[in-house]
Amino acid sequence: MSESWKEKLSCATHCRRCSLKLAPGDPRILSVYDHEPICMPCKGVEEKRADYEESSKNAIGQCLMDVELAYGDPGGYCYHHFYPFTC
Ligand SMILES: [Zn+2]
Repeated sequence: MSESWKEKLSCATHCRRCSLKLAPGDPRILSVYDHEPICMPCKGVEEKRADYEESSKNAIGQCLMDVELAYGDPGGYCYHHFYPFTC
């Protein structure tokens, strides 16, 4: 799955959560719930959910298994669940 996620999220044209249009230079980030690219306001909402911390841990565990990369690896799949990036 190494390349598919990159393609899916790097140039997503809109937020999967609220359908906000995303320009290539707009920051986007991966949801820890469904791993879809979402806008920053939606991420803010997600972070306030009661189960966010637990879901984050699950997401980290899952993506480590999937990509076998360190969580802090810049540009990695795991990394983009917690750090915004642009197209
Ligand atoms: Zn959104």
